[in-house]
Amino acid sequence: MNSENVKVLIIGSGPAGYTAAIYASRANLHPVLYEGLQAGGQLTTTTEVENFPGYPNGVTGPVLMDDIKKQAERFGADIRPGMVSKVDFKSYPFKVEVDGGQKINAESIIIATGASAKYLGLGDEKKYAGAGVSACATCDGFFYRGLTVAVVGGGDTAVEEALYLAGLAKKVYLIVRRNVLRASQVMQERVAQKENIEILWEHETVGLFGNGVVEGARLVKKRGTVDEEFVDIAIDGFFLAIGHKPNSDLFVPDIDVDEQGYIKTHGDTTRTNIDGVFACGDVQDPRYRQAITAAASGCKAALDVERWLLSK
Ligand code: NDP
Repeated sequence: MNSENVKVLIIGSGPAGYTAAIYASRANLHPVLYEGLQAGGQLTTTTEVENFPGYPNGVTGPVLMDDIKKQAERFGADIRPGMVSKVDFKSYPFKVEVDGGQKINAESIIIATGASAKYLGLGDEKKYAGAGVSACATCDGFFYRGLTVAVVGGGDTAVEEALYLAGLAKKVYLIVRRNVLRASQVMQERVAQKENIEILWEHETVGLFGNGVVEGARLVKKRGTVDEEFVDIAIDGFFLAIGHKPNSDLFVPDIDVDEQGYIKTHGDTTRTNIDGVFACGDVQDPRYRQAITAAASGCKAALDVERWLLSK
């Protein structure tokens, strides 16, 4: 099979990848974007998005992503289904394989493969997806105003999400599997001061129940000990906050990542350790992880690529 030559190859199709495609196509760089397994990225699994500027009445995740995609296509971005299965950064142009077959020679690459929220692996998480189960409090918390929710996890994300939800919900359970929090001291103090947050120490979730939507969670306390006991709590929302996994495996070890796997970028730019390879969106952002910040970094990546290509 012949190789195809591409000036800018964008890998990934969340807000970061699509926004990079808008900017790169408007700069006449004829970007080619491969969407990956989940076209549109994490946002396609959320329902209503109310915090993305420009949508005064809110928009669903899939519609938002489709709008950004269409905007990129309007300027000629070549957006294709397909999964990048192999990259070779040692030769230049970079060699890339898609779906184990199609070969691409890329002058520059923008990695926008995002991150995936970790789930517990319970069948009920799938059963109630979009019906009370969420992995993003800032996206979905607003729908639980005055209601009761649970957050699973004991790290900074879980505590931050519990604090955020405590400002909206009537009551927040924080389900922690050990008898200590992993979160930083300052966050622990904040959570201890919130009257409507109750920490359920040494509890693990074994199931969810409800008629079509989440109405409760079944927990096990002190699992595997003589004091083991099953506890049901009544909740309207169940939030996972047990960490995210950046989708960077394909690029390691060539691309430098931090201890959690997030791609390291240089200073305030999207440059990686490999000249000509850029990273944007959640795959390089352990901190903000918002659609708008991902879109902004996609814009930065396209501008960085444009300047880099001009300088060559
Ligand atoms: P962490 O890996 O720090 O914490 C994950 C938490 O989830 C831990 O408490 C862990 O329990 C728990 N957990 C993992 N798997 C399970 C499971 N199967 N069942 C129940 N509980 C589970 O992830 P975070 O997303 O919280 O944080 C990631 C990084 O980002 C950290 O470095 C954090 O400090 C940073 N961060 C910083 C923020 C800030 O500065 N404002 C905000 C958010 C994140 P256990 O403790 O028992 O392992």
